[in-house]
Order: sequence, then structure tokens, then C-alpha cells
Amino acid sequence: MRKTVIAGNWKMNMTPSAARTFIKELAPMVAGKDKCDIVLCVPYVDIAAATEAAKGTNIKIGAENVHFKASGAYTGEISAEMLVETGVEYVVIGHSERRQYFGETDQTVNLRTLAALNAGLKAIVCVGETLEQRELGYTETLLKYQTKIALTNVTAEQMKNVIIAYEPVWAIGTGVTATADQADEGNGYVRAAVAEMFGDAIAAETTVQYGGSMNDKNAAELLAKENVDGGLIGGASMVTEKFTAIVDAAN
Ligand code: PEP
Repeated sequence: MRKTVIAGNWKMNMTPSAARTFIKELAPMVAGKDKCDIVLCVPYVDIAAATEAAKGTNIKIGAENVHFKASGAYTGEISAEMLVETGVEYVVIGHSERRQYFGETDQTVNLRTLAALNAGLKAIVCVGETLEQRELGYTETLLKYQTKIALTNVTAEQMKNVIIAYEPVWAIGTGVTATADQADEGNGYVRAAVAEMFGDAIAAETTVQYGGSMNDKNAAELLAKENVDGGLIGGASMVTEKFTAIVDAAN
């Protein structure tokens, strides 16, 4: 059985003190809700406060990016080894905002994924089509292409630490959610790509999340779909009641 993973992505929001307060408030609300893994991916500077506040709870902490080199002259970047030492367990890779604003490519997504996995981190790898690509009929082609490039040179053993988030770009931060059927279909394309690379058994075990305006109102319908094994959640992950409702829907 594959794991359901409910992961928040705070983007460039929340100071360390706000992170500490949020997690202290959230922890009792999600305590014991163990039918899904609960993760908060936070800005680098929040990691120390977040890991400290999450100690002894069922909330795990992730980062929002990782560089692919181990060390060197890469001003402003953070390596996988650095993340591991901070106590982070997960890292988001290839979010559409990284692709759109920071020149992330399918190739660098692959390199970052390999760096994260080789360091023992769990990689939440994001893929997704733009509205234009969807309207041109390229959703399946694009999702399979992005998934396969992201996973190039990943071993079957490492796939245990891979989560893929299908995030249609047109649904992120827009309030427009994919319908449950669209989410299921997109996630299905991703799973099919994993099957083509690694076989049906590994594909059946791989967690594929949906992300894009998932919230307390629509989570139950999305998560009920066969191929939707959790969510990557932006806006609603910064409101304890909404995030808890999504965790409840997964439980
Ligand atoms: C995200 O940041 O990955 C995301 C899906 O954002 P939102 O839930 O706000 O659309």
C-alpha cells in the first residue's frame, strides 16, 4: 500500500517565530491522525524553529528546494548535506514557481532530485502543465516527459523516497482547483510514466500527490480518487483549521 502524504508548502511566508507558533497550535489538532504522513515544507530560515517545535509530534519538516552540488561557489544555495544536518526529512523539488521565476529546468530538477535522494532525503518532485499546454492537448505527453526526466538515474531502491506532486500550473495559488477527475487523470499519467520506467509494482507503491488550490472544502473529493495519494498544499497549509481539515479528509 502506498502512503498518503499531506504536505504544506509555505513558499516565502512565515518568519521563524510565526513558524514556531503555528506548529505549536497545529500539533494537538493533528495528533494521532496517522493514516497519512504530515509534512510542512518551510523556508530555510524557519527550519531550526520548525524542527524544534515539531519534536515529539507527528509533523515532519521539509525544505522548499535544494542545490544539486555538494558544496562550492554557489552563493545563496543550500546543499542536501546541509539540509540533512538541520533535521529536515523532505524537500520540494521543481515547484512551478521555481520553474517560472528561477530558471529551473527539467534537467536541474533531475540533478536536485538525485542530490536529495543520495543524501537520504525524501524528494517531493513537482510536475504540471500550463493552461496553454493543456488546451493544446499535451497534458499526458508533458507529465510523462517531466516525470521521466526528473527520475532519470534514480534507482528502484531510491523510488521508496520519491513522492511526485502533480500540480497543474493553472491551479496553483489561483483558487481554481482541478476537478477530482482531472486530478485523478493527471496523477494517473504520472503513475503510468513511473510504471514505464520502473514497472507496475513500483508505480503502485509510489505516492502521487495532487496540488493546486487544495483546501478544506475540496480535499475529501480529491483524496477519494484512486490515483490521488495526498496533497501538496500552499495557501491552506498556513491556516491551522484548513490544514487540519485536509489531514482529516486523508484520515
Ligand atoms: C503549492 O504551492 O504547491 C500549491 C499547490 O499552492 P496552492 O495550494 O496555494 O494552490
